[in-house]
Amino acid sequence: MKKTLNKPVIGMSACVHGEPVRYDTGHKKSDFCMNELSKHVDFKTYCPEVAIGLPIPRPTIRQIIKDDIITVSQPDGSGDVTKALTEYGQKTAKTFDSLSGFIFCQKSPSCGMERVKIWYDHGKGCKHDGVGFFAREVMKANPLLPCEENGRLNDMPLRENFIIRIFTYRHWQDLIASGLTKHKLIKFHSEHKYLVMSHHIDSYKALGQLLARADLPLEEQADLYIAGLMTALKKLSNRRSHTNTLMHLQGYFKKYLDKSQKEELVEKIHQYREGILPLLVPLTLINHYLREHTEEYLSAQVYLSPYPDDLKLRYGF
Ligand code: SF4
Repeated sequence: MKKTLNKPVIGMSACVHGEPVRYDTGHKKSDFCMNELSKHVDFKTYCPEVAIGLPIPRPTIRQIIKDDIITVSQPDGSGDVTKALTEYGQKTAKTFDSLSGFIFCQKSPSCGMERVKIWYDHGKGCKHDGVGFFAREVMKANPLLPCEENGRLNDMPLRENFIIRIFTYRHWQDLIASGLTKHKLIKFHSEHKYLVMSHHIDSYKALGQLLARADLPLEEQADLYIAGLMTALKKLSNRRSHTNTLMHLQGYFKKYLDKSQKEELVEKIHQYREGILPLLVPLTLINHYLREHTEEYLSAQVYLSPYPDDLKLRYGF
């Protein structure tokens, strides 16, 4: 993995961290986050309901819709905390410049990122398209910040996608902290080219064209670049996009490898495409050849190792 200057700091719903802050004094500890991801990132925890003064334990709260207006309160409408949660979210979300991601607790009327239950006022039934009042403010104020929910992190492609985004965003934050220059921006793009290609080929082309523009001030170009990059990385890569990327990479070895080595590499890529092998196999072979034949441009490619290897996610589902 390309070294980050600073360990990523990830914001997190406190109950996902294992803190007993839920209404029933329980928690929603994420084993993946606390046993594996915690080796490579630091966490900063937030419990918006406790932060606005609700006790532990406390009565449950829910989102309720009446006349198209959504509020958060106890099921009978008492204890309305809509304003308090919104204001806490707005105030806290402005302090997240140093965060490289956020992991929310799913389904919560405060922290849920999506599909939160919104109950109809008459008490019969609910719909499932709400967003937690704290989560909404965090995402609104920090549109580039990689965000996920604890439940979705159990899905391997979503987990890998999130991990890629937080480490990429940390690299970007390091670049900005070290002082933005055109040279650094071009170098950053150069190192992330194949990573973008593996997620969204059109963005790969568009970001290259963006950096070729001479009519934009550097800061504006950088803002557009990182917005385009983070949007592209949200798209899940797949066997087809990885195969396309791997075929581009193997082209660099033409002058170094003999016929049987080239055939073996292409065969492994095809076997990956057909689902016979995990992505790790052609990638390991490419990394092996890179150690034998120094190719600076390729060695710098984040795609070859976008996050710490011991997270064991490079399967290319
Ligand atoms: S979901 Fe959010 S508000 Fe609820 S206990 Fe967890 S951190 Fe607190």
